[in-house]
Amino acid sequence: MNTARAELGAVGLEELRFDNRYGRLPPEFYTRLAPTPLPEPYLVAFNPAAADLIGLAREQAQRVEFAEIFCGNRLLPGFDPLAAVYAGHQFGVFVPQLGDGRAILLGEAAGAQGRWDLQLKGAGKTPYSRMGDGRAVLRSSIREYLASEAMHALGIPTTRALAIVGSDQPVIRESVESAAVLTRMAPSHVRFGSFELFSSRRQHEHVRTLADYVMDQHYPQLREARTPHLELLREVIARTARLVAQWQAVGFCHGVMNTDNMSILGLTIDYGPYGFMEAFDWGHVCNHSDDSGRYAYNMQPRIAHWNLYCLAEALLPLIEMEDAEAALHEYEAEYERQYTGLMRAKLGLASELTGDAALIQDALKVLHQNRADYTTFFRRLGSFESAAGADNASLRDMFPEPEAFAAWAGRYRARLALEASADTERKPRMDAVNPKYVLRNYLAETAIRKAADERDYGEIERLMQLLARPYDEQPAMQAYAEPAPQWASGLAVSCSS
Ligand code: AMP
Ligand code: MG
Repeated sequence: MNTARAELGAVGLEELRFDNRYGRLPPEFYTRLAPTPLPEPYLVAFNPAAADLIGLAREQAQRVEFAEIFCGNRLLPGFDPLAAVYAGHQFGVFVPQLGDGRAILLGEAAGAQGRWDLQLKGAGKTPYSRMGDGRAVLRSSIREYLASEAMHALGIPTTRALAIVGSDQPVIRESVESAAVLTRMAPSHVRFGSFELFSSRRQHEHVRTLADYVMDQHYPQLREARTPHLELLREVIARTARLVAQWQAVGFCHGVMNTDNMSILGLTIDYGPYGFMEAFDWGHVCNHSDDSGRYAYNMQPRIAHWNLYCLAEALLPLIEMEDAEAALHEYEAEYERQYTGLMRAKLGLASELTGDAALIQDALKVLHQNRADYTTFFRRLGSFESAAGADNASLRDMFPEPEAFAAWAGRYRARLALEASADTERKPRMDAVNPKYVLRNYLAETAIRKAADERDYGEIERLMQLLARPYDEQPAMQAYAEPAPQWASGLAVSCSS
């Protein structure tokens, strides 16, 4: 090992240290099994930033063994592969048993930056696969890979992605696609549904075991509290409120907010038919399979609250009912506080005044009525000229009804004056919170088509570089900030993955 690497502490694949504390929980929590081999795997994408988190030397990705390991064909010493079982409310309906139907937890890599679960998604059938084939397609693996890293760069809690390994093995969805395995990383993959499983089976001792496990590993400070399980619930409520406020502020739609897709750590998890808001629409439904619009953009805060009720109910063996209700009652105020704070920052408001919430809501109303591009609007708002008579043409021209924008802009100007806001001081603050680049659906689609049709993975790499710095101007990449072109207008994403 050369000195530079030694200083960084980065090691080779065989030198990584693994543990699997989840695998020391009672056997009812999982099934131990190895991934199903994938024929002739090849590396599609590798994320050095994620490798750094576990102290894996970046050049290790060039070894053939890397693809073999991160598709599940070869196990490293210390791996303890298992599929976790959980339950969950899917589209409002309780499903008594779900689980890792195509994911395999390999174990925790203990790096300089904490412990990270390494999970292979698409690694073959498990006892929880139900009707599924245990596989993931290249398309959905690229979507998750790009989105999770984009969200991280936006400052939004999320699972991470280490690599995509592909194979020419055909996988049947609406059409025949090819298989891929995504290596996902998170401090924990425990979901609300993990608690619902044991609670619905009346296995209260396992509810307690899981709650204590989560607390010991991830919320150790709560252990000393008088009512630790109540504090755990309160902490998850606060984190979830914060997470969804961040989603709303950036215009992220998850698409499938089932309780089995809700992280006990308040992470964005299980990227499927997600979408970043483009032409602003309160009721935007990104998931083509969501006929009733249950998970529409403007429903997300309420759905998260509903999901927290499910979690709280599962924790009732450990918490007094009145305490759980009181904790749940705190969600709305906490969500509003978080959301308003984030939106104030997006408007460049340094102080808090009554009327701010209305100013924010009315901006959204004008955006909605005009279907103006959400990301572009806030980015351009950073260059708002507050002098009387300034026409702010680059903003105004985004609105088919410019007078609606002008009326709002007049109020915004007056609000800025109340705190003597200076344009030059405000702009950098706003640029630091209003991304220039988000993962628009058509950008992901372009990368997917190049990968699937031409085995050209360059666009994935380009997007990773771009989205790692979403708040920077990156002038050469200006085209990537543009709204969807005509060819992309019919793109639809569904649960199929
Ligand atoms: P999702 O909504 O994608 O989070 O998936 C819901 C459940 O279906 C989870 O338990 C998944 O593990 C399972 N699942 C999804 N796709 C497949 C598949 N192709 N094979 C097996 N299980 C799957
Ligand atoms: Mg899921």
